[in-house]
Amino acid sequence: MSEIIKLTLNELVAGIKKKKFSSHEVTKDFVNRCIKSKKLNSFITDNFDNALKISKKFEIKSNQNKQLPGIPFAVKDLFCTKGIKTTAGSKILNNFIPTYESTVTQNIWNEGAILLGKLNCDEFAMGSSNETSFFGNVENPVGKKLVPGGSSGGSASALAANLTPATIGTDTGGSIRQPASFTGTVGLKPTYGRCSRWGIVAFASSLDQAGPMTKTVEDCALLLQAISGYDPNDSTSIDIRVDNFSSNLTEKVKGLTIGIPKEYRVENMPVEIDKLWKKGMDFLKDAGVIIKDISLPHTKYALPAYYIVAPAEASSNLARYDGVKYGHRSEGKNLIEMYENTRSEGFGDEVKRRILIGTYVLSSGYYDAYYLKAQKVRQLIKQDFDNSFNSVDAILTPSTPNSSFKMGEKKGDPVSMYLNDIFTVPVNLAGLPAISVPSGYDKKKLPLGLQLIGKPFDEQTILNLSLALQKRINFKRNVNNWWK
Ligand code: GLN
Repeated sequence: MSEIIKLTLNELVAGIKKKKFSSHEVTKDFVNRCIKSKKLNSFITDNFDNALKISKKFEIKSNQNKQLPGIPFAVKDLFCTKGIKTTAGSKILNNFIPTYESTVTQNIWNEGAILLGKLNCDEFAMGSSNETSFFGNVENPVGKKLVPGGSSGGSASALAANLTPATIGTDTGGSIRQPASFTGTVGLKPTYGRCSRWGIVAFASSLDQAGPMTKTVEDCALLLQAISGYDPNDSTSIDIRVDNFSSNLTEKVKGLTIGIPKEYRVENMPVEIDKLWKKGMDFLKDAGVIIKDISLPHTKYALPAYYIVAPAEASSNLARYDGVKYGHRSEGKNLIEMYENTRSEGFGDEVKRRILIGTYVLSSGYYDAYYLKAQKVRQLIKQDFDNSFNSVDAILTPSTPNSSFKMGEKKGDPVSMYLNDIFTVPVNLAGLPAISVPSGYDKKKLPLGLQLIGKPFDEQTILNLSLALQKRINFKRNVNNWWK
């Protein structure tokens, strides 16, 4: 294995700036690695030839002040990329070539990065295992036939296998943090409104956020910096100052108070996860942090509320795929039949399930009983967090109730699949920032993550706490290249 692909994003940036190696050399190594790693199925569309061409012409002299100069960079296929196929993992967008670029990806290219390709994901970001993609399952580099998590499964897989030095995903209910936990990588969901949603294929608009997925906390700070910022094209984007997350990054967290919510001790959670959580508390205590028990009493309603709100918004967002405006179109004897055939053939089972649930909970007879009730529960969940943040600076929980599982294991049982999101969805419902940090292994030798949840727009505190954890945990990512 060439050494370049093992470097962190920060090391690559420094190396290119100091001319230790060129953008072209770096890009070549990543492209070679990607070509040899097709078995993982982490890419839907590659941009290798273009990336090589662009990197060849890349001049570091005129790009010294960029944050990601000449860095090859693959992104989840949910971000619209101008002139390059964007599928959202769906057959219905199998031939969709956007005429515009998402704001978040544009920010990355503006900082000097080069598009390496589009990464596989669950269809319309609906899933927790990357088994709903029209383009097939993605393998987890940590072990054969194991899921990488979802929906940003291709992103997590590509990152953990060193196919891209860093990447971005989207998180509606955990899709950045859960795959990060399953692959031993770092993933951060920013505060709702921190990063623009413009040009990202919509799943559930009041929950969706783009965020960084990286090998280290330092890389996460750097990438968050690059993608954050106000965007007038997104009415929910917030015009708030973006501090320099990298230069403010410090492991000095002495005196901060961390809350431990008792409701996150769920039944049947493997003992290793509980142990890991305790280890996390001990490490933070060692860093001078005060640990405090807290209660988030409405936690048990988060999952049911999420699985009403998210499908409701999805059913409305996905109404636009009718065979007229975008992508795939099926034949039909008349307009209605064309719509029906297009949607029947274009969407997969999980997406159809969500559309059915969504239209049901929004229908006039059930709106008050389900949708409105779920919105009220959402407020209560947010209030729980607000109350806790009066006395703590951040909250520590496990990222997931289990480690990666075998492909097919949960596919036929949507409820057990949805339970994977139990620790991540409350954060989206409340619009808060949260990060998953690789923290250890279970007895099957599979990676596990710890989650830190922060106050709105206080990504810096959870990054700092993550750095303190990272330094003490000394997590070693285990890539044995079984797929080669
Ligand atoms: N697994 C969750 C779902 O299927 C979350 C997905 C996401 O965050 N995009 O809805």
